[in-house]
Parts: sequence; structure tokens; C-alpha cells
Amino acid sequence: MKLLIAKDSGYCFGVRDAVDLAYKTAEESGDVFMLGNIVHNENVVNDLDKIGAKVVRTLDKVPDGKPILFRAHGTTTDVWKKAKNMGMNIIDATCPLVKEIHNEVKALDSEGRCIIIIGDHGHDEVVGIASQVKNPIIVSSPEEAQNLRKMKKVGIVCQSTQTIENVQTIINIIMTKAFDLRFVNTICFPTKRNQQQLKDLSEKCDVMLIIGSFTSANSKRLHQLALERNKKSYQVTCADEIESEWFNNAEIVGISAGASTPDSIIQDVIQHIKNFADIQIEEKYA
Ligand code: SF4
Repeated sequence: MKLLIAKDSGYCFGVRDAVDLAYKTAEESGDVFMLGNIVHNENVVNDLDKIGAKVVRTLDKVPDGKPILFRAHGTTTDVWKKAKNMGMNIIDATCPLVKEIHNEVKALDSEGRCIIIIGDHGHDEVVGIASQVKNPIIVSSPEEAQNLRKMKKVGIVCQSTQTIENVQTIINIIMTKAFDLRFVNTICFPTKRNQQQLKDLSEKCDVMLIIGSFTSANSKRLHQLALERNKKSYQVTCADEIESEWFNNAEIVGISAGASTPDSIIQDVIQHIKNFADIQIEEKYA
């Protein structure tokens, strides 16, 4: 059997840097606090908890003087303001590509456009982007786009991990409703690469495995993209969930992972497959 592992699967640089910063800060300060999970992956959150990186619901729960880490996917302007007013020790792990989306959405807003954000309702990143401007509209699906009213000037950005297919479909619909439309494609480049490799592999391989938490919108989206191209596509959170029958008669197996899946879990899965399958070739796929 041949194993092809998508080169850009797993942690993107934004998540990797944020997790590294959490470890470093916990080591230096004894502990560090975060508003919500740093990544949508239970294993990573549990490991971080063990070294003193704690999740809190509100800023008031952070003990005096202890660092608060703002996560890769951004923090609302209100929380930033409140933390600064409280004189908190802020460790900013916001991904530079998320900051870029904040800047783009503000620029579109300053042109007097009605702002539309294509993304998942309630997702931390989308909430953070929405907080940059007044009264943005969040659109997550073509059905929601159909329900929009006619608009004169529209500015659109999207959540960094959206699929280009969902964004294109939604924009095609908005085009029928807007007179003057400006779209800034804010899907980030690690997501674009990861999605392209996943699509290629799904078509090439007999079986496709996507490793990622079911709480991660990004991992679920990858699984959906794979399923559209290959019925034998499976999402697992870790090696224990793999069933050896999936690989019966498979000659090529593809592996991809969401942006919040750590390397250690990807390696566990590869090792697990090697326990029951005869792997002759193992290659990275770019
Ligand atoms: S998915 Fe993209 S935007 Fe989000 S943290 Fe990773 S690199 Fe940054």
C-alpha cells in the first residue's frame, strides 16, 4: 500500500505559533489564561491544561497579574478594550492573516459599503471580524444569501478557512442583489493549499482519511470536500477510531488533517495504519 500525506495538512503557522506561545508563556509565568480553547482540538487543550495554560470564560476570571493570551483567530474589539482598561498582561497570538482580514473589512467599511462576512455564525474568528465594523451581515450558506435584500454598495470578506466553492456560490447569489460589489478574498494561503492538496488526493486515492476534531469547522469542511470526490473518505479524531476494514483492497491511501490537528496525532495515525497494513511507500504530497 502507498500512503500519501498532504504536505500542508495539520497545524497552519498561525495555530502553531499560538500554541508555541502558550507553552512558552506558561513556562515563563507558571501559567497563562485563554478565553476559550486555543484550537478546536480536545487533545491539544488537555495537554496545554497540564502545563498550566487554562481556559477561562471571562477576563474577570484571570487572576491579577497573570498573562491572558489572545488566540490565533482573533479577539473582539470590546474584549481588547476591556483588557487594556484593566491593565492586563496581554500576550497577542492573533495570526497576522487574521489581522489582515480585520484591516480589509475596516477598509471596505470606510468606503461606505454594507459589510457581508461569509463565515460560520458564532465562530470565534467570524465574531472577531464582525466586531471591527458596525452592523455587518454574516452569511454562512447560499440559502442565507438568497434571503438578502437588494443592496447598493457591498463589501465582502470571508472567514480564513472557508472553501472557495462555498464562497463562490454565495458571491454569485449576492451579485444578483448588489449594484456595486467589492470582494476581498481573505481565505488564507495555508487553507487554500491544504484544500487543494486534499481535493487532489481524494481523486487519486482509494481511501481518504481526514484527521481532525468534530468540533473543528475546518476539519468538517475538509471531510465534506473529500466526500464530494471520494465516497471512501473518513474523518477521525485519533488513531483509535480507525477501522482496518476501510482499507480492504486499497492501493493508495491519502491523509489530510485540519489546521488544528497536531503533528503527534497525524504520526499516531500513520503508525497505527502501519500496524495492520503493508506500507511500501510513504510520501508527502504537495
Ligand atoms: S487558518 Fe489561516 S488565518 Fe487562521 S490561524 Fe491558520 S494561517 Fe492564520
